[in-house]
Parts: sequence; structure tokens; C-alpha cells
Amino acid sequence: CGVFGIVAPGREVSRLTYFALYALQHRGQESAGIATQQGGHIMAMRDQGLVNQVFDESKLRALQGDMALGHVRYSTTGANSWENTQPVWRSDKREIALAHNGNLVNVVELHTELRQAGVTFRSTSDSEIIAALLSTHEADTIEDAVVDVLQRVEGAYSTVVMTKDRVVAFRDPLGLRPLSLGMIGDTYCVASESCAFDIIGAKFLRDVQPGEVVSITEKGLQTRQAVESPRSALCVFEHIYFARPDSRLGGRVIQVSRGRMGEILAREAPVEADLVIPVPDSGGPAARGFARASGLPQDDGLIKNRYVARTFIQPGQELRKHGLRLKFNPLPEVVAGKRIVVVDDSIVRGNTTRQIVQMLRDAGATEVHMRISAPPIKHPCHYGIDMSTREEMIAHNRTEAEVAAELGADSLAYLSLEGVYEAIDGEREAHCDACFSGVYPLVGESAKDAFEHA
Ligand code: 5GP
Ligand code: SF4
Ligand code: MG
Repeated sequence: CGVFGIVAPGREVSRLTYFALYALQHRGQESAGIATQQGGHIMAMRDQGLVNQVFDESKLRALQGDMALGHVRYSTTGANSWENTQPVWRSDKREIALAHNGNLVNVVELHTELRQAGVTFRSTSDSEIIAALLSTHEADTIEDAVVDVLQRVEGAYSTVVMTKDRVVAFRDPLGLRPLSLGMIGDTYCVASESCAFDIIGAKFLRDVQPGEVVSITEKGLQTRQAVESPRSALCVFEHIYFARPDSRLGGRVIQVSRGRMGEILAREAPVEADLVIPVPDSGGPAARGFARASGLPQDDGLIKNRYVARTFIQPGQELRKHGLRLKFNPLPEVVAGKRIVVVDDSIVRGNTTRQIVQMLRDAGATEVHMRISAPPIKHPCHYGIDMSTREEMIAHNRTEAEVAAELGADSLAYLSLEGVYEAIDGEREAHCDACFSGVYPLVGESAKDAFEHA
């Protein structure tokens, strides 16, 4: 998911939020929502669909206020339904709106505890649990409530909450999902990624720290370290695939890191070939890096229809039979008669990759070598990325050679985990890489995961 929050009296906060969400659209295409606050009264609008399908001029004009928050949803837990769209609104003891990115892992305990205390829920999303904890909390200030909740909620949560007079943002003690702080004029805003600041003319200041609570009012910014985190565990897959190339994460621009992943991949797994092509758009930066480092020429051999979103109507059996090329179309003029290196960022189930290999062969490629700028994905994500189940992952219980055979590729190589950290110039100890390594950063999670899938 993508989250955004802003305090900017005198500006069109709903319009600014709309554009920020537009920049964060890649983080979730299932639903979008904006809440604003004026004179102590919170208003919210949310619906299923893309940002520009949910909002129009008249809706944005109706959403007046001095502060706002926004959300785009990508579902991992909870059904894709209207009830699960965000911002979540609750008014138990205090009125709040809330937008959350991530996944909680102690949902069952928290849910039981709240239900026993008489709290009822409208949705099946774990985000409403955080909202209920904050809305029902006895503490005098929202900041005190957040500090307490941060100690009780386990998992991934980059969260933005709006009350009748402020926007409060916080990140879980491991900082699993990103959250950035920006400045617009002399007021502040927060967003999942810094690309949301660029689009509205805000300045990127810094990442919100793991376990930090940032409180924004008309008067300015107050911050407090709620939990001393033993380590951070930022999702390394944000660097590899999820975040937008022009966002800054941990002090680095994603596009540059991805280019270096491709360069290192060429060094680790060179191949004799005639041409490098990317799987658009996600494989683009790494393919350019691979070509740079290997000295091989590079071209576009696959053209992508960029309007195919996750919510796209599926073709159905009849059309599928005719080999409908919904997402990619190969260019025979570019690939025919050539030994091709195809670079992509990751393989999950292998369905897309298998189709691409076949398509390129049909278009006349003489050899197809897959090069992936991430290690094999073998373990599920519990922290907010939909990696599907272990059984569905093509690299689960298979060697590289077996995966290559499954995909019909002449060869296959993945970037090593060391290569990933070299590319992002980051410490392994400060990141989560559980979907690759099986080592989960939350204590007890690795054992639980092993148990669940035994
Ligand atoms: P596969 O071959 O596993 O079916 O698909 C691989 C492709 O899926 C890669 O191009 C990669 O960019 C993309 N991918 C990886 N993770 C995700 C995700 O969480 N959502 C979507 N929509 N695509 C993903
Ligand atoms: Fe990111 Fe993978 Fe960790 Fe999930 S398991 S938070 S996708 S690195
Ligand atoms: Mg892709």
C-alpha cells in the first residue's frame, strides 16, 4: 500500500493528496481514499479502483480542510472489498482516520483482546485493529496512545493517523516498510516514498526512523523515539522491485541501485550472447546495468501495455487459448536469429517468465538466457508484499537448473544476496530479506514459519 499525510492550512490539501497518491499508485491499485479535517470534523471518501477512477473535481472540492491523509491499497490480508478500503475511520473514544501500509503478525491476539473489551469491527483488515487500539485508547494525547500501541503491535506498519487537530505518523520498530518526511512551504508532510513529494513540489527531508513517532500540526513538527529498536529491517524487496525508481530509500535513489544490481549480475553470471533485453518496465534499470557491464548491445525486444493493472479484467479461457498477449508483445525484428539475455527483477511463480521465454522463441530468438537481479524467492512474506504461498513459488524446492528447465530457458542465473547488498551499499543486518533467505527479522517468526509449512 501507499500512504500520505499533510498539514497545510490555506492550501488545497485534498488536491495535493490526490497528486501524491497518483505518484504512489504503483504501491496499490485496488482502492484509493482521502480523508480531510476541517474545524475538528473529519471527512473521508474511499472506493475500489485507481486514484483517478475514485476521485474527480467535484469530490476533491467537497473534501475541504487544513490537513489530509490518503491511501492506495494493495491487499495481502483481508478481502478486496469496499469495507477494507482506507482511510479507516473510527470514533470510539477519539475520532480518527488512519492509513496503514504493512501487515501485522499478532492480529489474532489483538483482535481477541479488543473483541473481549466490546470493540466491534466493520472490516477484515488488520489496519482497523491499529485504528481501534488508537481510537479506544485512554491516554490523553494521541501521541501517548501511539507510543503505547507501538509496544503492543507486532509486524510491519508505516502508519498515518489524523485526529481533530493533527497528523501523526509512525513506523514499526523494525522499519519494515518505508516512510519519508517532507516539507512543503513551512509545513510538513509524510509519504511512503519520496516520489510523492516531487509531484507536489515538497522537499524530501529524511526517512522517518523505525520506532519514531512524528507529530505534525500547524505550528510545526514534534518527534519522539517511542521504541529503541534493536535493529532495523527495511524490506530489501522495496529496493529490488516495489518502490518507484525515482524514490529515495535509505539515502539512495532506487534507479541507481537497480542499475548496479544489473552490473553485478553481469559480473556474477556472464553469458555469451548477442543482445540484452529488459522485461519492461521492472527489468529496465537492471538490463541497462547488465549491458553496461557486459559490453553487450541492448534493445527493447518486448513491448508492454502499461495500462494492464492488477484489477484488469482477466481474458478468460477462450481468449487465453488463442495466446492472447495481454501484457507483452515481442518484436521479431529485434530478437529473431539472436542469442538473447532477458533481464528481469524477480521471479515469483514463474508464470509470466515462462510465457516470455516462449514468446521470444516464437519470435525467432535462437537462445534465451534469463538473468534475474534478485535471489530466488522461496519463502512467503508476512510483512505486506503478496509473494503467494511457498508451494506456488517456482524456486521452492528446485535448483536453478530445474527452474531453468521449468521456464524453458537455455540458462538462468540469479543475483546473489551479497550482490544485492553491494548494489544498495547497505548492511544486511539493517534489512529484511526473509523471502529470499527464510530468516525472518521478528523474533519467533522463523520458527513459526517453519512450523506452519512443515
Ligand atoms: P512470474 O514469472 O513470477 O509470474 O512474474 C515475474 C514478474 O512479476 C516480474 O517481472 C516481477 O517484476 C513481477 N512481480 C514481482 N513481484 C510482484 C508483485 O508483488 N506484484 C506484481 N504485480 N508483480 C510482481
Ligand atoms: Fe520484503 Fe521479502 Fe521481507 Fe517481505 S519477506 S518484507 S518482501 S524482504
Ligand atoms: Mg515485472
